[in-house]
Amino acid sequence: GCGHGRSKIDYEQLRQLLLDTPSSEKAEEWQRYYTAGPHLAGKNYSQALWTKEKWEEFGVQSHIVDYEVYINYPVDHRLALLKKEDKDNWKVSFEATLEEDILDEDPSTSLPDRVPVFHGYSASGNITAPVVYVNCGTYQDFDDLLKANVSLAGKIAIARYGLIFRGLKVKKAQELGMIGVILYSDPGEDGEMTEENGYAPYPEGPARQPSSVQRGSTQFLSVAPGDPTTPGYPSKPGVPRGPVDGAIPSIPSIPISYAEALPILKALNGHGPKATDFNKWWTYRTGLGYKGVDYNIGPTPDDVVVNLYNEQEYVTTPLWNVIGIINGTIPDEVIVVGNHRDAWIAGGAGDPNSGSAVLNEVIRSFGEALRLGWKPLRTIVFASWDGEEYGLVGSTEWVEEYLPWLSQANVAYLNVDVGVRGKVFSASAAPLLNSIIYAATGAVESPDHPGHSILEKNWDKKISTMGSGSDFTAFQDFAGIPSLDVGFNAAKDAPVYHYHSNYDSFYWMKKYGDPGFVYHRTMAQIFGLLIAELVDLPVLAFSAESYATALDNYVTQVEDKLDAALHPKDKEIDISTLTEQDISEMRGNHYNTTTTNAVTSSTSKAALAFRDSLKRLHDAVGKLTEKAARLDAEAEDLTSQAREHIPWYHWHQKVKLWYQIRKVNTKYKYMERNFLFSEGLDGRPWFKHVVFAPGLWTGYSGAVFPGLVESIDARDWINAERWVDIIEACIGNAARKL
Ligand code: GLU
Ligand code: CA
Ligand code: ZN
Ligand code: ZN
Repeated sequence: GCGHGRSKIDYEQLRQLLLDTPSSEKAEEWQRYYTAGPHLAGKNYSQALWTKEKWEEFGVQSHIVDYEVYINYPVDHRLALLKKEDKDNWKVSFEATLEEDILDEDPSTSLPDRVPVFHGYSASGNITAPVVYVNCGTYQDFDDLLKANVSLAGKIAIARYGLIFRGLKVKKAQELGMIGVILYSDPGEDGEMTEENGYAPYPEGPARQPSSVQRGSTQFLSVAPGDPTTPGYPSKPGVPRGPVDGAIPSIPSIPISYAEALPILKALNGHGPKATDFNKWWTYRTGLGYKGVDYNIGPTPDDVVVNLYNEQEYVTTPLWNVIGIINGTIPDEVIVVGNHRDAWIAGGAGDPNSGSAVLNEVIRSFGEALRLGWKPLRTIVFASWDGEEYGLVGSTEWVEEYLPWLSQANVAYLNVDVGVRGKVFSASAAPLLNSIIYAATGAVESPDHPGHSILEKNWDKKISTMGSGSDFTAFQDFAGIPSLDVGFNAAKDAPVYHYHSNYDSFYWMKKYGDPGFVYHRTMAQIFGLLIAELVDLPVLAFSAESYATALDNYVTQVEDKLDAALHPKDKEIDISTLTEQDISEMRGNHYNTTTTNAVTSSTSKAALAFRDSLKRLHDAVGKLTEKAARLDAEAEDLTSQAREHIPWYHWHQKVKLWYQIRKVNTKYKYMERNFLFSEGLDGRPWFKHVVFAPGLWTGYSGAVFPGLVESIDARDWINAERWVDIIEACIGNAARKL
């Protein structure tokens, strides 16, 4: 080529660079830095500044974007078990330390700025009451308790973590008149490497450290993420702020370890029904039987009570996103790539620093390409988000601020949060992006299987739908930007990952999580290739047909669900065939079995009529599929044309080709936007996407056609028809515009 204005690095050279540059040593170095400093939202300015300076050193222009957000910091707390000796004479039978053990081997556990155990957005309070064991605190768990007439109002709930987002456990307890919630980590959740199975706890072995505590946010995620005082608009200084009721809890809650849950669970022994009197979900993955816990429901008698004291300070405080930009030559096609920087804990090697280390290695690699003369086609925006842990705050406020620009220019959002906590690759994505995930993982070598790829050896090749729980949420569900999220998870027989605990530390990562930081390097390679695929191919590497196929499957899923409701069969379910997500959806389903156990004959006519309406969605998808297939074929044709050498004197042919490519890319870029519905979902108008949303009562795991499915769950056939109309219109628009 003749130099000026042209990239000196072609696509294949770029890919090679993105595979060769990331290093395990560097990833370890970034981990060492990030795990040694302050992380909490609004308190991590030094790390924001350091990140910005590093990215600039790598050759990427960067700046800090700040917001003023409403969040809480812990002040004081207490948890004690009290027993009445005689009249007015209460004896403390157990006083929780609410501390995680300090370990000599692990310096993170004794850092001066380690964070007390508490819940993000939890309410202050000082309450004393009997306790009820509510299993995982899912919608169906509470439904089982209501059916058994267990007294809940005025009581304190003790629930184990797992299956659904923790804030929804508190939300349901609050709605049922409970006055406080204790959440603990049951080792039954930990897979095979448990103390009960003979494994030594961390740091000697891979089992859970008994004093480990999972902190975390208890905002009511299903209403809206982001700053709860500014839903839908950015928390800039001086903006008007709304009330927070309905978005965050009004009852106090506290997280504890299994070691400190034991005395409370044992105090329940012999009181009220036993978990085994309910159904299999009440004993599924419970792991403290060997410690003498009978898993009675309670409540404890009136002379055995718990005192829960929780004092939180609420402030409106700045937080800092770091934004780095590599400008492309196409002005209005932008790829955003992000990871959060804030953590609950002093270390945070897995969450989020494995992702932060990966992101740094990716940026360093692209910086290397720039230095060698690479000129990207599309713009890349890199983001280090703050305030993710409280409720995706930094990313949500940023999307709310830049919505007009993002709607117009943002092609895709790529997220990495916990990049590495094991070796099992996992991905969730909008279907438009499925094919690039297969391509990238197929081109990266598995550290444990030389000569074989991650795709072959470390992945079941399943891509889940986008739920929530990380920073893709505002992009996907509010702005309609196709997004993906990737990470290496822990297998069932892998060392226990101490999520949101002090033991998610550098020492744990180096010894158990990713010795040698090889999976850090691998994730940086995968992430680099994902970005390259979107940024530097003339024709966008989207698959419109994948989207249409996925939509057709989702319609079938809705039909199956409806059929199951119309003809309920009491079939024994084989637990071993269910995924974590299946169970989450089953137990988190808000279908209220107490009032509408089956579809009654008076409603079945309406239900049957409605079932016919779903055919309209198959028809609409059919038309979309045709158009999508044609677009993908045209894209493929243009891709091969772009590969051919066109001599300079045929410039008019080149101009024509670029014009055609631009037209195809624009269709791809806006396809996802057609699925936004401006009024939003019923009762949660911030969520605009009609295909994807976090499940109303699951939070993490995704629901498809949420408006439609929720109406079916509520047996509201009129609203269900309304949602068919809305979805049909969206699919129709998408087809027309392709
Ligand atoms: N990753 C955070 C968590 O699961 C997200 C918090 C939120 O979505 O509110 O705790
Ligand atoms: Ca906001
Ligand atoms: Zn995270
Ligand atoms: Zn987290």
